[in-house]
Order: sequence, then structure tokens, then C-alpha cells
Amino acid sequence: MKLYDRYGRQVTYLRVSITDRCNLRCFYCLPRGCGISTKPLRLDLSEIATIVRVGVGLGIGKIRITGGEPLVHPGVVDFVRDVSRIAGIADLALSTNGTLLAEHAEDLKAAGLGRVNVSLDSLRPAVFRAVSGRNDLNRVVAGIDAAAAAGLAPLKLNVVVMRGVNDDELPAMLDFAAAHGAQIRFIEYMPLGLAQRWASSYVSRAEILERIHPQLAAELPRHQPGDTATYYALRSGGEVGLISPVSCRFCDRCNRLRLTSDGKLRPCLTSEGEVDLRDALKPGASLEAIADSFRAATAGRPARGTYTDAANEEPANATRAMSSIGG
Ligand code: SAM
Repeated sequence: MKLYDRYGRQVTYLRVSITDRCNLRCFYCLPRGCGISTKPLRLDLSEIATIVRVGVGLGIGKIRITGGEPLVHPGVVDFVRDVSRIAGIADLALSTNGTLLAEHAEDLKAAGLGRVNVSLDSLRPAVFRAVSGRNDLNRVVAGIDAAAAAGLAPLKLNVVVMRGVNDDELPAMLDFAAAHGAQIRFIEYMPLGLAQRWASSYVSRAEILERIHPQLAAELPRHQPGDTATYYALRSGGEVGLISPVSCRFCDRCNRLRLTSDGKLRPCLTSEGEVDLRDALKPGASLEAIADSFRAATAGRPARGTYTDAANEEPANATRAMSSIGG
């Protein structure tokens, strides 16, 4: 039985946060001074692999490993190996801040990982540090090159565009991506979780397009039906993706659920409702109980997500950092 929600949308994609820990402190995601959860309820990786297996049995074919920072988890390579052996996964990807990718890229590829998305918000060391709290730009660039060399393809770079922070770097970032064999996607800053200074930092898709207009050739057809990005061909060759969760919502083609690092299935990024897997994972519980949790989370998907209190400087939907939801 496949997973269809009340609005006829099929769930085919699971984002899996394997840890809420992160070695960066990007101010829009996990601000400095904010404690990282030390919840005893964090799932272990074998439990997460079991949940993934059940989800794949219900028709999920795309898995993204995320966090927190998934590469700070000491078991990440073994986890990739376990999950890559599950028959039925067509796309196994990982999102990372890239700081530990140079050490792990070859092992991840050998373990069966298909591809990586690397978050990179600035090419200027001082800005990178101001955003993330760490002086790690060189390590991220080394990670990007290691991923390309290891054949983790297509290699994608994700940039959250923020006014007065990195919005003057977009043309340079297009050149950087081309020089490093990567596709680049510009993402609107979302008023979610612990995002700070949202109202003054938000840059809309229309404005992003204006900034890179001289480099654009033509809009391209969507790559896949559930794709959150729209793509433009670049005059120099290659393409750029735009992800516009705020100005141009994509709820009508949403195909995903999220598994949080503390064992909850989250029906929608922006809504608070979650389905707790704790009972379904108790010794003696059947896999059918996990399948029922997938069905309950699917049934709980709203027609449209809501950014509560989006007009305010501090988002109200702040019960969870993006680091624990997985972005
Ligand atoms: N550590 C990994 C990484 O850096 O990609 C995975 C987790 S991170 C939470 C996943 C993605 O969420 C990153 O690309 C990050 O930039 C994005 N993100 C976090 N908070 C965001 C926000 N308020 N608006 C837009 N994107 C956000």
C-alpha cells in the first residue's frame, strides 16, 4: 500500500535527520547560545535504518540523510552502507555543511551514497565566519572538490540568500559552482524555527532573479515532478536552481515526510504536528506499527503549510530548530 494523503499527493521522499548536533552555528538555523538537544530519545542508527526500510516498503524511493550535520555522527558511513542495501531506493543523497566532507567523500561513495548537497552561504571568509561562527570556508571548498573527485554526482550547492549578508555574491557564486563542477541553488530564507532577523534579511525569488539576470538564458522545464526548485539555463552553460518556499510555495507538489533525530515523523516542515515513533520502536512491537506511523503522518499532511507570524522579525514557529528537523 502506497502513501497517499487526503489531497491525493503521494509520499515518495523521506528526509532523515540522523543527529541534531552540528559543528557550525549558522545564525539562521542553530544560533549561538542555543543549546543542542541532549534528549535521551535520540534514535540509534539501526532504528533509523528500520524506519527507512518500512518507508521504502510503502513506496518511498528517495532518501536524504541530513541533520544537524550528518557527518559529525561517527556511524554515518556504516548507516549509508546499510541503507544503500535496501532494495527500492532510487535516490540516496546527503545534505552537509561540507566541513568534514574531504575526509568522508570517498568512503561515502564506496558505501553506496549517490550524491551530496553542500550548504555554502558565502565565498568570503569573513562572511562565512559571521554566518556560521567558524572559520571553515577552506575546508568546505576542499570538501566540495573531494565530493566531485569521488563521483558524488550531481553535486549541488545550496545558498540561503540573505540581504546585507551574501546577496551581493550571487554572480560570483554562479562562477564558483561552474569552476567546481557543481549545480547551484539559491534558496529563500524561511521564517522558521530559530531563524533570526528574518524580515530584514529575506530576499525574494524575484529579487534573486534580478541580481543574476545578465547571466540567465532561459527558464527550463522542471526536472522532476516533486522538485522544489525551478531551473534557469545560464548564458555561460550550466544552470541555476531557485527554491522559493516563501514567495512561491510548492505545497501542491510536496512529496515528502521528515524523520526528526528524536524519532518523530513530521508531516510538514512548517507545521508543528508530529507522529511519535517511540511506541512503534519498543521491543516486541511489529513493523506494522511503524507502517501505521507513516500512514498517520501522511494523513496529517496539511493542504498547505503555514509560516506562523511570518510578518514579525522573530518567527513564532520556534519550538524546533531547523537542525533537529533536518531542513
Ligand atoms: N548540516 C547540513 C547542511 O548544512 O546542509 C544539513 C542540515 S541543514 C538544517 C539543511 C539546510 O537547511 C541547509 O542548506 C540550511 O542552509 C537550510 N536552512 C536552515 N535554516 C533555514 C532557513 N531558515 N531558511 C532557509 N534554509 C534554511
